Amino acid sequence: MTLNFDAIIIGAGQAGPYLQSRLPASGMRGAMVERKGFGGTWLNKGCIPTKTMVASAYAAHLARRAAEFGVLLDGGVSVDMKRVKARKDEVFLKSRSGLETWLKGMEGCTVIQGHARFDSATEVSVGTERISAPKIFINVGGRAAVPEMRGLAVVKYLTNSSMMEVDYLPRHLIVVGGSYIGLEFGQMFRRFGSEVTIIEMGPRLIGKEDEDISAAIGQIVESEGIKVRLNAKCIAFSRRGEDVIAQVDCEDDAPEVSGSHVLLAVGRRPNTHDLGLENAGVAVDKRGYIEVDDELQTNVPGIWAVGDCNGKGAFTHTSFNDAEIVAANLLDADPRRVSDRITAYGLYIDPPLGRAGMTETEARRNGRKVLVGMRPMTKVGRAVEKGESQGFMKIVVDAETRAILGAAILGVGGDEVIHSILDVMYAKAPYTVIQRAMHIHPTVSELVPTMLGEMK
Ligand SMILES: Cc1cc2nc3c(=O)[nH]c(=O)nc-3n(C[C@H](O)[C@H](O)[C@H](O)COP(=O)(O)OP(=O)(O)OC[C@H]3O[C@@H](n4cnc5c(N)ncnc54)[C@H](O)[C@@H]3O)c2cc1C
Repeated sequence: MTLNFDAIIIGAGQAGPYLQSRLPASGMRGAMVERKGFGGTWLNKGCIPTKTMVASAYAAHLARRAAEFGVLLDGGVSVDMKRVKARKDEVFLKSRSGLETWLKGMEGCTVIQGHARFDSATEVSVGTERISAPKIFINVGGRAAVPEMRGLAVVKYLTNSSMMEVDYLPRHLIVVGGSYIGLEFGQMFRRFGSEVTIIEMGPRLIGKEDEDISAAIGQIVESEGIKVRLNAKCIAFSRRGEDVIAQVDCEDDAPEVSGSHVLLAVGRRPNTHDLGLENAGVAVDKRGYIEVDDELQTNVPGIWAVGDCNGKGAFTHTSFNDAEIVAANLLDADPRRVSDRITAYGLYIDPPLGRAGMTETEARRNGRKVLVGMRPMTKVGRAVEKGESQGFMKIVVDAETRAILGAAILGVGGDEVIHSILDVMYAKAPYTVIQRAMHIHPTVSELVPTMLGEMK
């Protein structure tokens, strides 16, 4: 027997539950299918648990620096990894159960637990159950990529998922990948007390940022004793006794890194391989991402793809924004487009990086005449008062139109401060609006207008 609905949502990640919550007001009944933890990567393995652990790492770091602030602790600082994990579990499990209760109690929502697979463009099987709907929203997210690297089979490697079960201190964590996930885990475990080496294949950390930002991030992590190996063109693994050996160059006399554990943080893959998309005729690109238009419709009418699985973004906020775009077009007659949004993300090392819009390199590559404003955090009173003056702020403006093209705030509060710039960009207002605004003292934000007044 087939159960009929008005809509099927596959995956209760960041986008699916919001979309489901919008349906009943339009008289639509939805089936919400989830195969694992409600809340997906964001809640179970990504943002929430990692930032909870980042907070524990920050507490350890600050405790070690306590004497600098005139605060004396008796004895040394040690970290109880079981308690770090327990705190993380408590935080994410509470959110997960809140989400599950909300969905299960929602009018017009039938929750079905299990793996969904398309049988046709309007039919989906979940185990022995078959459901059908004229509208299907795919929100299946992604998983850690495990690239083919020599010797990987002989080492027990970790990914961002299995890291969530770690309740012990790795003696020496080798992190493969010097981007968001690798940097966050690397700094976190260094602060917990592990030796950490980050191996990056490219010539610099977080390679899509400007070179000055990559260099500053390198200095921040190295200042805490993290070793960074760049240009690791050919990575291979082996075992030597209890140790894991990571070979980082396969040509010359292979320099190697010896550690106790390996974390692979080399990107993500969409969960589209086991969804039966071929039965529905939904097209994917060569990396497996579902192809969508500017309103997130697939090539098959009545099927949309939202969140990480469409390759249009790789963040929780891009997934949620996808859901808002679909709901606006479908339910509110409000024509919203993916191309309306401005790139924005955070990198949650300490101090964090908040990024909005283009990098300076991108702006110059586009042939723009630009003005650039910079201010080191050593010249931001609030950062100095807090004893957290690493990093800098940077803003890039179109010299002709006065539009803000992009900004990066690598410094204390950078993940929050960036929004004052982002919102002015959305308002399409010239930079002079923010330059003339009176900001509160003492804050990091108060120096944004000053920086704009000193652009070159
Ligand atoms: C370690 C780490 C840290 C991160 N930190 C941040 C951060 O600080 N900020 C940020 O913005 N982003 C962060 N991200 C990225 C963020 O987690 C993802 O971009 C976000 O979760 C994507 O949401 P989504 O809704 O597309 O998919 P997901 O959250 O991945 O949800 C997809 C859901 O679909 C389910 N599913 C998959 N296939 C099926 C199927 N066939 N049938 C039924 N259910 C299915 C899955 O079980 C899952 O619950 C981080 C990611 C990682 C890995």
